[in-house]
Amino acid sequence: VRPADFPPPWSDAEAIAEPSAEAEPIEVGVLVVGAGPAGLAAAIRLGRLAAADPATAERLGEVPFAVVEKGKMPGSHLLSGAVIDPAPLHRLLEGLRSPADVPSYGTVPGESVLFLTPDRAVPLPIPPTMRNHGNVVVSLSRLGRFLAEVAEEAGATILPETAAQQLLVADGRVAGVRTGDRGRGRDGEELARFEPGSELRAQVTILAEGTAGHLTSAAIDRFGLAGAGPQTWALGVKEVWKVPRPLGKVIHTMGWPLRSAARFREFGGSFVYPMGEELVTIGMVVGLDYRDVEVSVHDLLQELKTHPRIRPILEGGERVAWGAKTIPEGGLVALPRALHAPGVMLCGDGAGLVNVPALKGIHYAVESGRLAAEAAWGSLAGAGELGAYDAALRGSFVWRDLREVRNMRPAFGAGLWRGAALAGLATVSKGRLPPGDRLTERDSDQELFRTGRAASYPAPDGKLTFDKLSSVFLSGNRTRDDQPGHIRVAARVPAELGELWARMCPAQVYAARPGEDGDGLVEVEVTPSNCVQCGAISAKGGRLTPPEGGSGPEYTLT
Ligand SMILES: Cc1cc2nc3c(=O)[nH]c(=O)nc-3n(C[C@H](O)[C@H](O)[C@H](O)COP(=O)(O)OP(=O)(O)OC[C@H]3O[C@@H](n4cnc5c(N)ncnc54)[C@H](O)[C@@H]3O)c2cc1C
Ligand code: SF4
Repeated sequence: VRPADFPPPWSDAEAIAEPSAEAEPIEVGVLVVGAGPAGLAAAIRLGRLAAADPATAERLGEVPFAVVEKGKMPGSHLLSGAVIDPAPLHRLLEGLRSPADVPSYGTVPGESVLFLTPDRAVPLPIPPTMRNHGNVVVSLSRLGRFLAEVAEEAGATILPETAAQQLLVADGRVAGVRTGDRGRGRDGEELARFEPGSELRAQVTILAEGTAGHLTSAAIDRFGLAGAGPQTWALGVKEVWKVPRPLGKVIHTMGWPLRSAARFREFGGSFVYPMGEELVTIGMVVGLDYRDVEVSVHDLLQELKTHPRIRPILEGGERVAWGAKTIPEGGLVALPRALHAPGVMLCGDGAGLVNVPALKGIHYAVESGRLAAEAAWGSLAGAGELGAYDAALRGSFVWRDLREVRNMRPAFGAGLWRGAALAGLATVSKGRLPPGDRLTERDSDQELFRTGRAASYPAPDGKLTFDKLSSVFLSGNRTRDDQPGHIRVAARVPAELGELWARMCPAQVYAARPGEDGDGLVEVEVTPSNCVQCGAISAKGGRLTPPEGGSGPEYTLT
């Protein structure tokens, strides 16, 4: 059984519409979709460009640039590690804020990389991709709130609780977005507080939707932008703990509780970062090309916390936040062949700009947002074209880094040890060896099997280990349960696939019930109101679409 054999009732064409003659559109110069680091960097840069070029700004009308964000507020849907390379952020903010103003938990105080067995932790030499000297620990959710403030001061109109549902395309050119309705009932009926969505017509649209972007995938499809290999993803689940003792260093782990044999395809590891003296964040990241239907990243994180090296870090503490999100892992070969099409540009995680061996994408998101803003402004001022964005990004450190590490993640398809050897070769040769490009394989193309892995997940004790539902509660999720379902999956699937979805989803959205037709298929029950919009279902055979704006988690510390 492969998830790809049971596709969801969905086509990317549903996310594309023509501008309507009846709509009363809101005209915007540059529209940014997504208030993450990429989108907010774009907005901040647009503010500076507008200040330096008031004639163009005036020509763009009352709203020269705006940002739509589906979360309750900027930051609500942001989740990351997060140890960041602060240089691109400092460059962006130069003259607006000093580095000391950026909310952070300080520079990385020290670090180690550990190989875990069930009861031991063996220190490893730190590979160059994982060195964090000079980097800074942040909460991306907090950083997002801060960047949104700076963007507003720079003149951006930020529209929270606004999901961009459809890309407007007219005469082969992106002309803005249609935002989702609010206040519809489960069957699409208008409830008392119904508010229709609107058309935001823009001269240039910057898609900065982050991982598994809804309009981004539609744009890639419509404009034939797909890269050499398909995009692949990992799922990250993390918790923030209030702890009695400061941690004092950044820890990454490999090995247990993941299995190293090639047939499992369990690539990933954990991160444990100090957030100042009182908080620690701990997370588990696993590639979604895994094959065992019983893998549950949430439960693997619970298991990790029982390790003798990890447990003492958290003991006596209290879990104060939880969340989940996917990370694009395909790297250079999975990047769209062009990052722009008429009227539109793709940034950040939406485009797939993540350095997987380093577990870092925030600095690339910031840089790509800034460069996209410059190309957008250049085109509006009659001084350039959107293609300048591609050229600038290809000439930047982002491309150089991604080229060097391009073969590392795919190498782990051959198991941990061969993958580590090939990754080492790529590191010492700065990406020249192994030669060529290793192509990615779709996560949903992996054959599924079952091994009984779930039997060893620890039972939730409510102190150190937790179940999914109490975790979703901690995410602040407030999705109205009588809104139209936003998850598309096949309704009847083989038992393996039903179980895969139930275990994979960190928010307990899926359950599989025995089917009644005697054909061996199970009925998939979906509880969309639990969904924290991590995006994993889009990688493994389903499709996440944005629910009503303002739904989903309300992260503050992740
Ligand atoms: C567990 C985990 C650990 C990580 N650790 C690190 C780390 O330590 N260091 C690091 O540098 N990177 C790390 N990353 C990667 C990093 O978080 C991302 O690369 C980065 O957040 C990408 O920024 P972005 O702006 O492209 O997307 P995002 O941060 O995902 O922001 C996208 C925003 O767009 C909004 N949006 C999406 N679609 C729509 C729509 N249709 N309409 C309206 N709004 C929309 C979303 O709600 C969100 O607010 C980690 C990621 C994960 C998941
Ligand atoms: S239903 Fe939501 S939370 Fe669950 S896997 Fe899909 S996107 Fe993630």
